[in-house]
Amino acid sequence: MEILKHAEKRTYGAIVIGSGVAGGWAAKEFCDKGIKTLVLERGRKVTHNEDYPTTLMSPWEFEHRGRLTNEEIAANPVVSKCYAFKEDAKHFMVKDAEHPYVQDKPFDWIRGYQVGGKSLLWARQTQRWSQFDFEGPARDGFATPWPIDYKDIDPWYSYVEYFAGISGNKDGLDSLPDGDFLPPYELTCVEKHFQKEVKRMYQDRHVIVARCAHLSEPREIHYQQGRGRCMSRNLCQRGCPYGGYFSSNASTLPWAAKTGNMTLRPDSIVDSVIYDSKKGKAIGVRVIDAHTNEMVEYYAKVIFVTAAALNTNAILLNSKSVRFPDGLGNDSGVLGKYVAFHNYRASLSAEFEGYADTKTAGSRPTSGYIPRFRNLYKQETNFLRGYAAGMSAGRGTHTDRESVGESLKNSLLNPKLNTNWYAGSHMMGETIPKETNKITLDPTKKDAHGLPLMHMDVSYDDNDDKMVKDFIEQFTEMYTKAGFTNIRTRDSKQAPGLDIHEMGGVRMGADPKTSMLNKWNQMHAVKNVFVTDGACMTSTSTQNPSLTYMALTARAVDYAVKEMKKGNL
Ligand SMILES: Cc1cc2nc3c(=O)[nH]c(=O)nc-3n(C[C@H](O)[C@H](O)[C@H](O)COP(=O)(O)OP(=O)(O)OC[C@H]3O[C@@H](n4cnc5c(N)ncnc54)[C@H](O)[C@@H]3O)c2cc1C
Ligand code: SF4
Repeated sequence: MEILKHAEKRTYGAIVIGSGVAGGWAAKEFCDKGIKTLVLERGRKVTHNEDYPTTLMSPWEFEHRGRLTNEEIAANPVVSKCYAFKEDAKHFMVKDAEHPYVQDKPFDWIRGYQVGGKSLLWARQTQRWSQFDFEGPARDGFATPWPIDYKDIDPWYSYVEYFAGISGNKDGLDSLPDGDFLPPYELTCVEKHFQKEVKRMYQDRHVIVARCAHLSEPREIHYQQGRGRCMSRNLCQRGCPYGGYFSSNASTLPWAAKTGNMTLRPDSIVDSVIYDSKKGKAIGVRVIDAHTNEMVEYYAKVIFVTAAALNTNAILLNSKSVRFPDGLGNDSGVLGKYVAFHNYRASLSAEFEGYADTKTAGSRPTSGYIPRFRNLYKQETNFLRGYAAGMSAGRGTHTDRESVGESLKNSLLNPKLNTNWYAGSHMMGETIPKETNKITLDPTKKDAHGLPLMHMDVSYDDNDDKMVKDFIEQFTEMYTKAGFTNIRTRDSKQAPGLDIHEMGGVRMGADPKTSMLNKWNQMHAVKNVFVTDGACMTSTSTQNPSLTYMALTARAVDYAVKEMKKGNL
C-alpha cells in the first residue's frame, strides 16, 4: 500500500526527458493543454536571470579577459574547439573529462547539460525547411523518404515562430519559405553590395538577412513571457537579462511553470524507458540521481524523449527488455544508425576596398545568409544535395600598441579605421545519412553513473569532399565577380560534431521496417513514446535545425494529447 502511494506520487500525465529546445517546447505544450507534466533534466538548475553569473560583466572583470587558459585548452581538446567555449559561457558547456564517450572515429561532441540545455548557447539562426528538403531523400534516392512534407509542418512553423519571436525579412524564395516574422535586422553596406551583385550575376542565388530568434520588436505574447526587446549586445551565450533571444529558460519553461502543471526535476539522469510487455507500452522511466546515483522510477501515460539527438539514441539503446533486446522500439534494427550532421568544413575570407567613407557601428545579433542553390530544381553537380552559407562584412579598427606612456594611451583611445572592409562566408552543407554512420553503447565500459559509454562511429564521405570543393569554387567566383580582393579559402577538415547539428538514429518514416517513428514522431512499435529532437530527423537539409525541432514537437504534443483524450494512449 505504502509503495503504491509513493508510485502514485511519482505518476504524471506526461514525462518529458530533457529541458533544452525540444523538451522546453514539449513541456509548454503539455502544460498549456492541462496535462500534469514531469520534466526530467540531467543537469543542474539554471533559472532565467538568477543563474546567469556573467551576463552583466564587463571585459575587464573577467580574470583572463574572456579567454581560456592554456591548461583549460589542454584539458578540453574537444569542447575548446567550439567558439562559444570562452570564459564568459564555459560554465554552460560540458567539459571533456566530465562525461566521456568513445570516438571510434573523431567526433567533437559539444553538449550543454543543464536546465535549458544548449538553448542558452545556440547562435539562434532559425530558417524554415522547404518542400525541397522534405522530398530530398525520395527524389535523390538516399536514406528513407520523409513521412511528412512541407504543408504538414507549415502551420506549426508559424505557431512556434509567433511564440518564440523570429526576426526576418519576407524574401519570397522557394528554397527558404517565409515565416511569421518580427522586423528584420539590416545588412551592412558591403553585404548589400554583395547582395546586389549576386542578384545581378546569378538568377538562382540570393543574399538575405539571416532569420534569427531575437525580439527585434516584441509582441504582447513576448511581454507575457517576461521578455523584452533585444538590445543587440551580442553576449547571448551568457544568458540574456532581457530575454531578447529565445531560450527554454527565458521562454517555454517559465511559461509551462506558470500553468501550475509542470514539475521540473534537475539533476535527474534518465537511464532508460520502462516497457511493460503485458500492457504493450511504456509505463515510465528509470532515473538516476546525479548526486547520489540512487535509482528511482517515474510513471506516465506518454513519454517524450527529447534529450538531444545522441543522448536520445543512448537512452533508447539502453532501454532493453525481453520484447526489445536491442533497444526500445527497435524492431527494424535502425536505432542508432543513419546519424548525420552538417558539413561546416569550408570557409572563405576576403577584403573590399570600397565604401571608404563608411564603417560599421554597434552590433547586430545576426548576419547575412545565402540559401541553398545547388541541385535545387534538378541534379546539376557530381554530388548529392547542396549547401547554404553564412555571409558577413564589417569594417573594424586597429590600435598601435607598440609605444608606451602618453603615446600608447592616445593610440588606445583613438583606434584607427582599417583601410578595407573584411568579409567572409562559411558553408553549411547537407550530409547524407548512412547506415555506417552510427552510435552504439559499449557492452562493458560504464560512466560514473553506471550508464554504458557511447561509441561514435561517424565520418564524412566522398560526397562531402566534393561539396567542399564546389563551395570553395563557387564562392571564390562570386566574391571575385563582386569585386572583393585578397580572397582566401580554407577546408578546416574538422571532425563531425563541431557543427553541433547532429541528427538521426531514431528516424521518421512511413515504413516500420526501415524507420523508428511514424509521421507524428510516435514510435511505430511503442505508441506512447515520442521522439521530437534531432534524433527523429530522416535527413538533415542545410538549414539550422532547431526551429524544425520546435515545430515537430508542438505538432506531436498536439497529436499525443488528442490521442490521450480518445483513450488511445
Ligand atoms: C554554440 C552553438 C551554436 C548553435 N547555433 C545554432 C543555430 O544557430 N541554430 C540552430 O538551429 N541550432 C544551433 N545550435 C544547436 C542547438 O543548440 C540544438 O539544435 C538544440 O539545442 C537541440 O535541442 P535539444 O532539445 O534536442 O537539445 P538540448 O538543447 O541540448 O537539450 C537537451 C537536454 O537534455 C538533457 N539530457 C541529456 N541526456 C539526458 C538524460 N539521460 N536524462 C535527462 N536529461 C538529459 C541535457 O542535459 C539537455 O539539457 C547551436 C548549438 C551551440 C552549442
Ligand atoms: S543580442 Fe539581444 S538577445 Fe543577445 S544578449 Fe544582447 S540583448 Fe540579449
